[in-house]
Amino acid sequence: MKFDYDLIILGSGPAGFSAAMQSTKFNKKVLLVEADEKHLGGAWINAGTVPSKALREAAAIIYKHSQSFGDTEGKKAFQRFKMKDLLRYKSKVVDYENSEVKRNLIKNEVDTARGYGRIIDENTVEIDSHTGKKKRYTSKFILLSTGSRSEPPAKFTVDHKIVKDNTSLTEMTHIPRRLVIIGSGVNAVEYATIFAALGTKVSMLNLQKEILPFLDDEIRDEFFTALKKHRIVISDNVVIESVDLNRLRNCTEVRFKTKDDDRLQVIETEQVIHFGRRMPNTKDIGLENVGITTDSRGYINVDKHYRTSVPSIFAAGDITGQPGLASASFTQGRVASCNMHGESEMELAGFNPYGIYTIPEISSIGLTEKEAEGLGKDITIGRAFFKELTKSSVSNNELGLLKLVIDTSTQKLLGVHIIGEFACDLIHIGQSVLVNDLEVSYFIDNILNYPTFSEAYRVAAFNGINRINKAGVKYRKTTESA
Ligand SMILES: Cc1cc2nc3c(=O)[nH]c(=O)nc-3n(C[C@H](O)[C@H](O)[C@H](O)COP(=O)(O)OP(=O)(O)OC[C@H]3O[C@@H](n4cnc5c(N)ncnc54)[C@H](O)[C@@H]3O)c2cc1C
Repeated sequence: MKFDYDLIILGSGPAGFSAAMQSTKFNKKVLLVEADEKHLGGAWINAGTVPSKALREAAAIIYKHSQSFGDTEGKKAFQRFKMKDLLRYKSKVVDYENSEVKRNLIKNEVDTARGYGRIIDENTVEIDSHTGKKKRYTSKFILLSTGSRSEPPAKFTVDHKIVKDNTSLTEMTHIPRRLVIIGSGVNAVEYATIFAALGTKVSMLNLQKEILPFLDDEIRDEFFTALKKHRIVISDNVVIESVDLNRLRNCTEVRFKTKDDDRLQVIETEQVIHFGRRMPNTKDIGLENVGITTDSRGYINVDKHYRTSVPSIFAAGDITGQPGLASASFTQGRVASCNMHGESEMELAGFNPYGIYTIPEISSIGLTEKEAEGLGKDITIGRAFFKELTKSSVSNNELGLLKLVIDTSTQKLLGVHIIGEFACDLIHIGQSVLVNDLEVSYFIDNILNYPTFSEAYRVAAFNGINRINKAGVKYRKTTESA
């Protein structure tokens, strides 16, 4: 049977974009369908990853300046900048990234169509264009990569003026003096530190028991030190009662209780940002027309090749559930493309890192100390506090910890956990050692540039190996006194 395309992709985020790019390398004819009238690139470029990271970078520069040089002309660094300066910085980045996506699609001869895509049958997609026209195309394969969105709050409304979400906050008109963040996921904590770095007094209302429960315990302790330094106040186990304007006091009141305490508490604030749970964009894309199965929360079930329950239809990115990251979505889209075009039986590699772009950053790969112990492994920990590094003192970045989880008998690396400047980049050094199943002596036997943050690996490896070999004064004294 002859089809219009080899592949039709619904959604131009990282999963759809990378699948399109990979498919053109197999000389396949691709149509990329995007529902957004203005932009390609999805949440990745227009509402999530890129704008939040650009704002984070701008805030971190301002914060660093204020930490390093103090007040200039009687003003703190953040008082010398306005929201419009940060938005200008962000817009420049977003515009550039948007143009890069377009340039790559044109260069690789990917056809694009604007409109809402829906599956009609195993090989047909209908596009509802913004002008009201409907058009159908056939394809050998279909990739669903329509992403996710934030679940709306139950007790109040996101009006995008006083109460914002992750999209509308990127167009905030001023830096608020007081801000309440409702939610406690990665995006919520990132924005909490971004605004705190700009001088905003931030209160976080965490609807869960703990913040970032998946972090290694010591890294979380360091993170709480950073939050304290930012003067961010956190309430856990919160149940929101209402968010209302108090005209008399000219402020917004957030009323809440906690699951452990029935007293009503009130925070007066200028601005609220709501970060809801992520939900898959699976509604009305025609899953029922072909019988694609989903889990209880609506995420599409896929196998390790990203194939759905229908052989000609694949799905990748947030629409398939965890981890809900652009980083993973890029690879998932590529793996799906490789498998549908029959070039290989590809799967995602193990050891996925995660990066949290708080100020300071957090990143991790492999087993935490607790997980390794839970698996009954005999482990030794190697630590490097950033204050031990010359790079930290010359760059005025002393808060930080790099922690290695080492298998005691083989001295192989089991996990790396970092909080501190450039943690999200530094993690990939550990990733190489972990993936290649090397011993931590790698960090000692090879010369590392000096001064660098990478040296934290050397310091932590020495710390761990010395502990294993009971080498040094600390252990001699223990042995002598025994
Ligand atoms: C505030 C925030 C910060 C983030 N920061 C990071 C980060 O630092 N690092 C990281 O790795 N990840 C980050 N993420 C997560 C990342 O943005 C997502 O994991 C990623 O964008 C998901 O990619 P995707 O391809 O699945 O879908 P998306 O990027 O969501 O794109 C889906 C696209 O599909 C389109 N679409 C929807 N329905 C249809 C339809 N029926 N027909 C056609 N098109 C349709 C949508 O308009 C959208 O453009 C962040 C997310 C948020 C919200």
